[in-house]
Amino acid sequence: MKKFKPSISLLSATLALAGCATAPGPSSPYTPSERSIQSHVDKANAAAGSDLTFLLPLCKAPAATEPGPEEINKVIATQIARTAPAPMKVFDNLYFVGAAWSSAWAIDTPDGIILLDALNNQFEAAAVIEAGLRRVGLDPTRIKTIVVSHGHGDHYGGAPYLVEKYKARVVMSDLDWTMTETKLDFASPLWGAAPKRDVSARDGEKITLGGTTVTLYLTPGHTVGTVSPVFDVTAAGQRHRVMLWGGTAFNFGDKPDRLKSYIESAERMKTIARQQGIDVLISNHPGWDNAVQKMSQLAKASQPHPFVVGTPAVERALTVMSECAQATRDRYAIR
Ligand SMILES: [Zn+2]
Repeated sequence: MKKFKPSISLLSATLALAGCATAPGPSSPYTPSERSIQSHVDKANAAAGSDLTFLLPLCKAPAATEPGPEEINKVIATQIARTAPAPMKVFDNLYFVGAAWSSAWAIDTPDGIILLDALNNQFEAAAVIEAGLRRVGLDPTRIKTIVVSHGHGDHYGGAPYLVEKYKARVVMSDLDWTMTETKLDFASPLWGAAPKRDVSARDGEKITLGGTTVTLYLTPGHTVGTVSPVFDVTAAGQRHRVMLWGGTAFNFGDKPDRLKSYIESAERMKTIARQQGIDVLISNHPGWDNAVQKMSQLAKASQPHPFVVGTPAVERALTVMSECAQATRDRYAIR
């Protein structure tokens, strides 16, 4: 009987196969694990550097149980009770007129104001948005358009009041209009009612007023129809391009499809940020863009402009969001 003598090539092929079994190659199926979670958290930490650490709470493990309506209302009440930051002219044509928890931004143009988000309710719309606009020298009767980033009450609750008073048009994505008409993700008696369906933003929709164009990108994830506006501002004779990330937290619970959309949206907007040279990233919550601290820096010195972080930092911020979303997806997957 002939003795089997393995050839070198057969040996190396066998070893290579054995290697494949213990260390998955790029074509192996992705398996969520404690290790994959840690890897995404590490990538998020690296991308955050020392300047974007305010985004890292996104990487925290979600609570074991979803909060009930009472708990949610308590949190909302506490947040609404916080004193609003002073309104401020942040760029030549962009003003912060938000509260401590939710932000509202006003884009001023010669033909009127585009308001980005409308806060929680009519009381905030009056005390924070209207009063804030007056304090920075703008006339609230010039509000022409309200873009609502997504269908949660902390962004639309003040809209019906402003619509009734100033006949402003309201823009939201079709999917989030439907959500406000059918089944809300969250409902709270502390929020104003949802505005009546008005303009539906499609992906890439452009709103132009007084020479300023705001492009609305659909960035689903935080809600099914979150919208992220992109537009130009100027400061000290320089043009900058701003993106407002329309919805940051993963407060929708264990929904792999939503996390998948979120990750895809963040990756897509990273490409758009690079292509368009977006060098300013703002949010609709001061906690997610460090707006209050940046405004206090801006009040002391306008150079270098604290909101102009540069395109690489905008891309890093989107990487943090994407990596934390991937860590969260994997956490739910192995629970
Ligand atoms: Zn929200």
